[in-house]
Amino acid sequence: MSFESLNLIEPILRALKEEGYTNPTPIQAQAIPIVLKGTDLLGCAQTGTGKTAAFTLPIIQRLMASQAPSVRRQIRGLIVTPTRELAIQIGESFQAYARHTPLKCTVIFGGVGQSPQVAALRSGVDVVIATPGRLLDLMNQKHLSLQQVEYFVLDEADRMLDMGFIHDVKKLLAVLPRKRQSLFFSATMPPEIVKLASTILQNPSEVSVTPVSSTVDIINQSVYFVDKGNKNALLLDLLQDSKIKTALVFTRTKHGADKVVKVLLAKQIRAEAIHGNKSQNARQNALKNFKAQTTRVLVATDIAARGIDVDELEYVINFELSNIAETYVHRIGRTGRAGAKGTAISFCDIEEKEYLRDIEKLIGKKVPVVENRLYPMKVLQVEKKAKQPQGRGQQARSSESPAAPARSFDKAKGGKKWYGKTNKY
Ligand code: AMP
Repeated sequence: MSFESLNLIEPILRALKEEGYTNPTPIQAQAIPIVLKGTDLLGCAQTGTGKTAAFTLPIIQRLMASQAPSVRRQIRGLIVTPTRELAIQIGESFQAYARHTPLKCTVIFGGVGQSPQVAALRSGVDVVIATPGRLLDLMNQKHLSLQQVEYFVLDEADRMLDMGFIHDVKKLLAVLPRKRQSLFFSATMPPEIVKLASTILQNPSEVSVTPVSSTVDIINQSVYFVDKGNKNALLLDLLQDSKIKTALVFTRTKHGADKVVKVLLAKQIRAEAIHGNKSQNARQNALKNFKAQTTRVLVATDIAARGIDVDELEYVINFELSNIAETYVHRIGRTGRAGAKGTAISFCDIEEKEYLRDIEKLIGKKVPVVENRLYPMKVLQVEKKAKQPQGRGQQARSSESPAAPARSFDKAKGGKKWYGKTNKY
């Protein structure tokens, strides 16, 4: 299928050609005709599937169809997304796809001064791409009105809920015109998401691409069993490999990210952290340096990394596994984009073994284990010995193995608590 056969207008087709897109991705092929018809859409798709263009392109086309150039611009399109990084990326995509049209967009997010955003709004825009908090803030200050919104997109709805934005979203819905076209995207569809979607959408068409588990099939995955105290050494050892030109390393916490950066810098490995404690400028710079490969290793927490879009990112390293199995899929989905080859290496300590089991259940296969000769996990060595016939090992196991207590710690302490505290990220 070609973009031409989707009946997109010439200025959009030209922009797509310039972007180097030859064929629509499955979500684009499915969603674009629906949105062009004016129907509401419920899309189950994650970042990396091309969903941004799936909603942006038909909205550009519909805005163009009813454009009245002499009238002062009003906000007719609103795209709400959970993180600043995603907002910026969607803004960049919008600008690229709409570059041969007169449409103007601006991006609004918190954590930076509001004056430039207010100035952009004042100069007139057709589309706003925003995170919910700052959007409401500016609306309450009367810097913008959402009364004329005709197209509303709620992006990454599941993340939005995870990050505690549900009340902000409800406040937004209360001010949006009833007569509008709404598009709702989420990577997962648990019941609360389905419920939220039903309050936003009217007679929606549903599209779904690549269930979370199958997107990871093209990525070369492996896991090292390693004691927590040896993870730094193992990481340094892996990075000796000059084949790894750049790597995105995931930690669970901001503090953990900073610690890894420190260790790498001490060994002259160019590294930067990206997480919620960093200023917006620092984050953008870190991402820019990483894209330019002046920074070799970017260490990120999950929320900060949402939407990081680095073409040709070959290596993702899970320094710590997440207790949420879907997060693994989101993380490793940063690599292997658009069919490119990708490698995801995970470090799994004794407390994380249960997380690995959940991950394997979700992706429907075992992650191959790398024989960790340099830093073997102590418990595994003890277990190996225990399997030897003498029975001495058995003794060693009962006195030395922390396996059982560690696992119960895992659920009780490590479990939801890590994730529930969003300010840790
Ligand atoms: P998204 O899921 O919207 O974050 O897009 C993921 C990546 O795929 C981005 O780098 C897009 O620029 C790229 N992309 C989107 N649509 C296409 C397409 N039809 N052909 C090639 N690349 C695409």
